[in-house]
Amino acid sequence: MTEQTPAIYALYGNPVGHSLSPPMHNAAYKKMGINASYCSYCVERPQEVIERIKERSIQGASVTIPFKTAVIPYLDEIEDDARAIGAVNTILHDDTGKLRGYNTDWIGIVLSLEESLEIQNKTFAILGAGGAARAAAFGILKKGGIPLILNRSTTRGEELAQEFGCPFYPLSEIGAIRADCLINTTPVGMAQEKRASPIAKEALINFRWVMDCIYNPLKTQLLLDAEGAGCTPIDGVGMFVHQGAEQIKIWMGKEPPREFMRQVVLEELGAQDGD
Ligand code: NAP
Repeated sequence: MTEQTPAIYALYGNPVGHSLSPPMHNAAYKKMGINASYCSYCVERPQEVIERIKERSIQGASVTIPFKTAVIPYLDEIEDDARAIGAVNTILHDDTGKLRGYNTDWIGIVLSLEESLEIQNKTFAILGAGGAARAAAFGILKKGGIPLILNRSTTRGEELAQEFGCPFYPLSEIGAIRADCLINTTPVGMAQEKRASPIAKEALINFRWVMDCIYNPLKTQLLLDAEGAGCTPIDGVGMFVHQGAEQIKIWMGKEPPREFMRQVVLEELGAQDGD
């Protein structure tokens, strides 16, 4: 009896070395009894993503920094949500050989927020104006919430705010902003600069919930300050698990074991902490 060749899924980005997507996806496939494997590849150009998917018969791919927008012109079809956000983090290589682009980051943010609060009619102050901020603004609007944008650079922040029809404030004005929930989509506070926070802790009293899209470290300085200020913290693991779970749904058409995936990520983060 010959064993079937496993299906191959892949992550493309630069860098990809520290991504927890491979352990999370591989553990989920095994738990689901699916004969497949997921690997990560560092690439230099968006065209390389397309070439590799086609040459190596990759059935589905995750796309990360810095190719989420750059890859769009090379795909055959783009789903409406991904087009509105202007970023693709998921590619399906379908049965006809076409490459279809999707965005699951916005669903990740929405599902993660909804574990703690109802989005409708609440106000959300989004720090940043990059890909994750665009996904957050899109998802919040779709669910009836009210986003506002705060960004370091005025031009990029104003562009995003105008596109999504919401207000913009320079990041330096955070002290004067009130909202139900604050969402950090800047990279400030990631593992390389663990003790940094994008805003002064005094500004946190104006928010009830504080979400950080960063998931490594799990408790960023922003979330530690938020706890200290009496806010409810929401870490980035929920977003990470849900965006990955939605990729599995697109590629395999099956609901993955989300709670199990969360445990795998938390274990990996715990192991890295001890490195
Ligand atoms: P991006 O497109 O590069 O955007 C980054 C944004 O952060 C920009 O608006 C930039 O402001 C701002 N920024 C960068 N450094 C800053 C600093 N020192 N002070 C203030 N603002 C600063 O990045 P992205 O793709 O949106 O990703 C952002 C973060 O979200 C990353 O940490 C990423 O790991 C995380 N993320 C998490 C998940 C998850 O599943 N949990 C998924 C996607 C992304 P300017 O416009 O002024 O340059």
